[in-house]
Amino acid sequence: MAARIATAIHEHRLLPGTKLGEDRLASIFNTSRARVREVLARMARDQMVELFPQRGAFVAKPSIEQALDVFEARRLIEPGVVQRLVRCMDNAKMRRLQAHIKLEREARESGDKRATVRLSGEFHVLLAELAGNSALLRSMRELSTLTCLTISLYESAVNTCCLVDEHEAVVTAIAAGKSEEAEQIMLNHLNHIQGSLRLEADSDEADLEQILGDLL
Ligand SMILES: [Zn+2]
Repeated sequence: MAARIATAIHEHRLLPGTKLGEDRLASIFNTSRARVREVLARMARDQMVELFPQRGAFVAKPSIEQALDVFEARRLIEPGVVQRLVRCMDNAKMRRLQAHIKLEREARESGDKRATVRLSGEFHVLLAELAGNSALLRSMRELSTLTCLTISLYESAVNTCCLVDEHEAVVTAIAAGKSEEAEQIMLNHLNHIQGSLRLEADSDEADLEQILGDLL
C-alpha cells in the first residue's frame, strides 16, 4: 500500500493536499483501518503525508519556505554524494547508472510524463544508493519526495523538471573520475530545477501596483 501511494505521489497522480481517507484506502486495499493508519503514520514520518487531528491524512503540501530549505539541503548534500560516488565507482555501478539514464530517455521520448517525473527523482536517489552511505540515502529519499511535491505545487508554466541531458553529464563526469566537474554540474542542475519553479514570494505578497498598473 505504501509503495503504491508513494508511486502515485512521485508520478504526480496524487497531488499535494489530496485527502487520504482511511475508509476509502481500507476498501481500495482490502485491509483494516488500523493497518491504513499505521501505513499513513509511517508515510508521515517520511514527510510524504501530513496528519491533522480531527481532519485526517493528506498528501504533504510543502510551503515555499520548506521548498527553499529542501533546495538548500540538496545543494549541500548532493555534491558530497557525487564526490563519494567518484571514489567508489566500479563497472557494476556504472552499468546501473547508464541503465537508468536509458530508461529516463525512453520515458521522455515516448512522452510518458508520469514515468519521466518519477524516474528523474529516482536518479538522484540512485546516486545516493550507489554512493553507499545509508544516512545520505535516507535523507535523499526524503528530499527527493519533497522536491517532487514542490514541483507539482510551484511549477511555472514551462514544464521543466530534471533534464536527462544534465543527468547524463553528471554520469559522464563521474565515469571520467572528474569529481569537481561532476559536483559543479550537479549544483547547476539543482539551480536549474529551483529556477524553473515559482518560489519567489507567496501570492498574498503579489506586487499589486505592477499587476494592476499594467491594466490601466
Ligand atoms: Zn535531476
